[in-house]
Amino acid sequence: MNILVVNAGSSSLKYQLIDTDTNVVSAKGICERIGMEGSLIEHKQIVKGLKTKEASPMKDHADAMKIVVKYLTDSEYGCISDMNEIQAIGHRVVHGGSFFSGSILMTEEVLEKLELCREFAPLHTVAHLMGIKGCLEAMPGKPQVLVFDTAFHQTMAPEAYIYALPYEYYEKYGIRRYGMHGTSHRYVSAEMIKLLGKPAEETKIVTCHIGNGSSISAVKGGKVMDTSMGFTPLAGVEMGTRCGDIDPAIVPYIMDKKGLTGAQINDIMNKKSGFLGITGVSSDSRDLEDAIADGPSNPNYEKSLLAVNILKHQIKKYIGSYAAIMNGLDAVVFTAGIGENNINLREMVCSDMEFLGIEIDAEANKLAFRTSEITKISKDSSKVAVYVIPTNEELVIAKDTAAIVATL
Ligand code: AMP
Repeated sequence: MNILVVNAGSSSLKYQLIDTDTNVVSAKGICERIGMEGSLIEHKQIVKGLKTKEASPMKDHADAMKIVVKYLTDSEYGCISDMNEIQAIGHRVVHGGSFFSGSILMTEEVLEKLELCREFAPLHTVAHLMGIKGCLEAMPGKPQVLVFDTAFHQTMAPEAYIYALPYEYYEKYGIRRYGMHGTSHRYVSAEMIKLLGKPAEETKIVTCHIGNGSSISAVKGGKVMDTSMGFTPLAGVEMGTRCGDIDPAIVPYIMDKKGLTGAQINDIMNKKSGFLGITGVSSDSRDLEDAIADGPSNPNYEKSLLAVNILKHQIKKYIGSYAAIMNGLDAVVFTAGIGENNINLREMVCSDMEFLGIEIDAEANKLAFRTSEITKISKDSSKVAVYVIPTNEELVIAKDTAAIVATL
């Protein structure tokens, strides 16, 4: 089945056309600056190896979708002859609240529930709704399926998702841990289960999705037991610009000291903290790695090393605590931009973990860099298998969409 996977942001729209029978991506691209001056599309025809970037006015997501269809069916850059060759559309949706524990066919009733999730992720949800409406307008009648980042985490028990705040906050406002990156955790944990070669119910895996945004999950028996992100994607480990877990009392303290509003401190914790906050110069782990490689002569060396050491320390803590709640550990998986490419960080995290049964293979670890291959980076003697598994959220979205559409 040809599935068009759509990831709609407020002013952008990423897409991939995936054949779910062969798992081949035939085209992909991004529309940017939707609703603004200078909107453009960057489109790649993967099979022919063609690439184009062109200015194209797009006043809204419906315009963007019409342009995507135009490129997909173009005689030179296209890969299908007409829209009928697309069987369905699969949308990435960031927040499904407690309403959605799996992927679902878009209906009026589903859209009403999605509207209720707006409060949890206002910018993302509005963008998704625009993307869905854009598809309805550009491809009327085409089935649309919603795949939620929060869904995989819905298996957590109350002790993992309830915060020790007045209980009415949960009841009245839905304040609880939801977790994010669920589609990625689901994909890499399923791949890891296949590699472990034992019944899925017996597996105990920690999945580390470490990118610009990062989250870590404890996946026991194929189900999430706990995850590091919380009510919002701000919780958990240090990220590119997000602070991760901090003592919550710091928030009113700094607001008082600096005369900040809630919106301002929220902005600082989301956009000016993490790697950027510590180093003062960059949110990109590559810049930090470069400064560390230069050594103390680089003015950013110390802070970069500190920022990376903080992340290492926190990932270790999560792995240890998740091994404790699962009563064991079979495997640790690294994925996403940093997890798939940062050799040093992986080595730092996995060193001095022999007590837990983790023994890293330094040479194998070096090979897991800018590759789409699954790579084992632990020694054969390691009781815990450690793997780098490149994530593929789009494939999960396409497969879920195809499975739901097959039942119609
Ligand atoms: P993501 O959010 O998954 O795209 O990850 C972004 C982070 O991954 C950034 O901090 C990048 O520095 C890092 N990253 C992405 N690609 C590479 C690469 N090829 N080599 C090293 N780091 C990378």
